[in-house]
Amino acid sequence: MTEHPAEADIAIIGGGASGLAAAIFAAEHDPKRVLRIVIFEGAQRIGAKILVSGGGRCNVTNAEVTENDFWGSSRTIIRNVLRSFDVSRTIQWFQSLGVELAREESGKYFPVTNRAASVRDALVNGAIQRGCRILRGTRIENLLPASCGLRLTWSHGNQSCLARRVILATGGLALPKSGSDGAGLRWLRALGHTIIEPVPALVPLVLARENSIGGRFAEFSGVSFPCVARFVSHQDHVTYETRGPVLFTHFGVSGPAILDLSRHVTRELFLHRKPVEITIGHMNFETRDAAINFLQNQRLKHPRRQVATVLAELYPERFAHALAAELAPRRLCELRRDEMRMLGARMSALPLKVIGDRGFAAAEVTAGGVSLLEVNWRTLESQKVPGVHLCGEILDVDGRLGGFNFQWAWSSAFIAGRGAALALLAGQKSG
Ligand SMILES: Cc1cc2nc3c(=O)[nH]c(=O)nc-3n(C[C@H](O)[C@H](O)[C@H](O)COP(=O)(O)OP(=O)(O)OC[C@H]3O[C@@H](n4cnc5c(N)ncnc54)[C@H](O)[C@@H]3O)c2cc1C
Repeated sequence: MTEHPAEADIAIIGGGASGLAAAIFAAEHDPKRVLRIVIFEGAQRIGAKILVSGGGRCNVTNAEVTENDFWGSSRTIIRNVLRSFDVSRTIQWFQSLGVELAREESGKYFPVTNRAASVRDALVNGAIQRGCRILRGTRIENLLPASCGLRLTWSHGNQSCLARRVILATGGLALPKSGSDGAGLRWLRALGHTIIEPVPALVPLVLARENSIGGRFAEFSGVSFPCVARFVSHQDHVTYETRGPVLFTHFGVSGPAILDLSRHVTRELFLHRKPVEITIGHMNFETRDAAINFLQNQRLKHPRRQVATVLAELYPERFAHALAAELAPRRLCELRRDEMRMLGARMSALPLKVIGDRGFAAAEVTAGGVSLLEVNWRTLESQKVPGVHLCGEILDVDGRLGGFNFQWAWSSAFIAGRGAALALLAGQKSG
């Protein structure tokens, strides 16, 4: 049986991407290795989410990362954190851990091995080599301030560890089977933190079954084409727009453009508890007029061409035929003005009625979490619970697809790990 320490200098709760990285960063700021750093991981399998990330390849970061790739409670804090440990330092740091990263044309970085396990193993070995202890299968049940630090308890309160500082890296609620169940958020809420209500993000959306083209999504299951997806939020009257492939499925829609848009939609569904409308338009046509122009040009050039044939050059055949079948005329020259306008509207902004999402089990990240306005960005220490530093997805930050969420995990882990270690070492020097 693993022996658990009764005391630690830094206890890290959560051995996911940000927890493992924070342990390494804390140890790297303690060159004399005086600090006792312990990682408590609830699952038996450490870094389970890293292993399934990026389709098993782990998209570690992106060539260009700015605060505009993220959403959260403070863009300024997100920028400051990202700049403190940027992409070039991330690439070098991984190199120092023995992981070479390769850049793909899209700007995404993956390990050259193309195996997420290389990243997970390097983080686990890096922590162990730097003297950190990793305790698997130890799910912390509570975190409470104590007279000289913080007390972590488990086994129904029968076991505990007194830590001088804690790094809370328990993640959000996405992919709960990997061990992220939002426990850290519950403790912090009880300790007085503002928690922006977590909703699934980077998640497929569920559509209403109707007779409209959008409502017949199941007929197009497996069909995908490049789109501009849009959502006008009633909450803040902002139009959110994403680009990329949209994929129809048996339950609704998925694909990069939908996943990137989803965090705005799930927030609105959560707040208003009623269906919301999004639109998808073919990437070639930003506006209805652009689509109409295209159709008019086609009519001039090939008046006797079938509408379905023209559409099949833009869309997969099943979808093109369904769009054309909505119109009585078969040939371009037979299209009336109102029919052309209707088709142009469908091509540039097809309405989809969203009634839900696929939930945290299918989400890649959590939108929401601990408000950034309640942490000191230079150390990511809580302003409500002194001695507790936060990193990773537990904070109210979520990035778009492309390696941004891991970059947030590394950058915030750097600040939290350094912050916790330097606070203790400074105390020892002056003590
Ligand atoms: C399928 C999938 C694919 C993804 N692919 C990518 C990608 O390619 N690129 C990218 O940038 N992002 C990707 N992400 C997002 C990325 O994985 C997360 O943003 C990142 O892992 C968050 O790291 P974290 O350490 O904050 O949280 P997590 O990785 O969720 O780790 C939290 C850890 O804390 C542990 N824990 C929780 N509560 C307790 C407790 N009470 N006691 C002890 N331990 C506890 C959990 O078991 C878990 O191991 C993907 C996510 C998913 C679900």
